[in-house]
Amino acid sequence: MILILGGTAEARALAQRLDDAGRPVISSLAGRVARPRLPAGETRIGGFGGPDRLATWLRDHDIDAVVDATHPFAARISASAAVAAPAAGVPLMRLERPGWTAGPDDDWHRVPDLDAAAAAITRHGARRVFLTSGRQGLAAFAPLADPWFLIRCVDPPETDLPARHEVLLDRGPYTLDGERELLERHRIDLLVTKDSGGDHTAPKLDAARERGIPVVVVDRPPRPAVPTVPTVEEALAWLP
Ligand code: NAP
Repeated sequence: MILILGGTAEARALAQRLDDAGRPVISSLAGRVARPRLPAGETRIGGFGGPDRLATWLRDHDIDAVVDATHPFAARISASAAVAAPAAGVPLMRLERPGWTAGPDDDWHRVPDLDAAAAAITRHGARRVFLTSGRQGLAAFAPLADPWFLIRCVDPPETDLPARHEVLLDRGPYTLDGERELLERHRIDLLVTKDSGGDHTAPKLDAARERGIPVVVVDRPPRPAVPTVPTVEEALAWLP
C-alpha cells in the first residue's frame, strides 16, 4: 500500500497512475478545501496529529512507501513525514515540482515570506494589487490600508483582510486570456504570488510580463533533507 500525501495536481496524477496499474494507493488530504478534487483510489481526510501519530498510522495501515507530494508551501506536513517515515521504517520520497524562474523580460522581486511581501507592496507604492498567495496567511496584508486588492482563492478567507478588497473565488488551471482580462479589467499594477511552480497557475506570470507589471514572488520555505524527484514519472520509477 502506497500513501500519497496530497493536495496537489501531481499527487492526483500519481494516484491515478497507480490506480490505473491496479496498485493499492491511499491519498491523504488535509481537509482545508470545502470540495476537494478527489484522487483515484482510496482517500483519507484530516491531519494525523503530528509525527508520532503519523508513524503509528503508517505501521497500522501496513504502508510500504510514502510519497510526500504536498504543495511546496505545506512545510509542516513535510516535516512531519520526514520524522514519521524513518521512525516507522517506511521509505519516503518527496515529489516536488520545480519553482518558477524569471526570464529576461520579467520584473520579479523575490521575498522570503508573506510579511516581506506586504512590505514590498508598500515599497513599490502599488495601488491595485492582484493577491494570489492563497487563503492562508492573508492576515499579513490586513494592515495595508491604501492599496486595493483583488484576492483570489479557492474558498472564502476566514482571516482579517485589507480594508479595500474584492474576493474572487476560483481555482486553476487558469488561461492566459483569462489572466490578461483580469489584469486589464482591474487595472492591476502589482502581482503577488508564491513560488508554487507548475503550469496550472503560471499564466498570470505571462500576463504580468506582457503588461510590464512587477511581480512579488514569495520564496519556498526551507524543507527537510528528503530524496526528491520533480516528476510523477520519476516517483513511479522509485516506488517498490
Ligand atoms: P501544512 O501547514 O504543512 O500542514 C498543517 C497541518 O495540516 C499538518 O501538520 C497536518 O496535520 C495537516 N496536513 C497538511 N497536509 C496534509 C495532508 N496532505 N494530509 C493530512 N494532513 C495534512 O499544510 P498547508 O500549507 O496547510 O496545506 C494543507 C494542504 O493543502 C496540503 O495537502 C497541501 O498539499 C495543500 N495545498 C497547500 C497550499 C499552500 O500554499 N500551502 C497550496 C495548495 C495546496 P497533523 O500535524 O495533524 O498531521
